[in-house]
Amino acid sequence: MNPVDIALQGSFPSVMVPTREPVAPMSASGERLLIASNGVFLEINRPWVHLVRRLSSFDWRTPVPYGKAFERTDLLCGSVPPALVAQFASMARAALPNEIGAWIVWSAVTGAFRLVGLPSLSHGPAHLHYDRPLLHEGESLVVDCHSHGRSRAYFSSTDDRDDQHDVKFALVLGNCDRTPSVALRLCAKGRFETAGAAPEHWLAALAEEGA
Ligand SMILES: [Zn+2]
Repeated sequence: MNPVDIALQGSFPSVMVPTREPVAPMSASGERLLIASNGVFLEINRPWVHLVRRLSSFDWRTPVPYGKAFERTDLLCGSVPPALVAQFASMARAALPNEIGAWIVWSAVTGAFRLVGLPSLSHGPAHLHYDRPLLHEGESLVVDCHSHGRSRAYFSSTDDRDDQHDVKFALVLGNCDRTPSVALRLCAKGRFETAGAAPEHWLAALAEEGA
């Protein structure tokens, strides 16, 4: 193998899933492919989350004599404080009629969450561009929040493009002049898993903040 592919295999390895023991855990942040008897899986490791998702299954059954892999989601940071979601809702209302963005970040060093406002570069209704903020050592983006002003909350094609490469939750608040509508999804390297509803305790905090 040439040096480029050796580096690629180091940074994004393919791993056989063993038949008699679990696959060895990832030792650092990154991604790898798990080749299992029941398909090819993408494993994603971040300080705050660990995900395994099936990328594809095989066209016929017999040829891969490896062990099985299973999809999983481990939220290592614990649950996101509803107070920070409510704090973002109040920022979004103050910014009306403009849209606004913020990140909820989590520190693997302190275990604490905080809300980081995003300085917008161009700022106006239906128009939001920003620089990624500088985070403290050990902090990770967990929830990428933005508002849709007075329009409803949904994921636009621009949102899809913006969320393509990240591993994060994406949260949209709409109807920010009253108790906001909410759209929430988990973004995992181009896979979007939209939640049927936001967590109950987030909705309760938003209703209280909007009252
Ligand atoms: Zn949007």
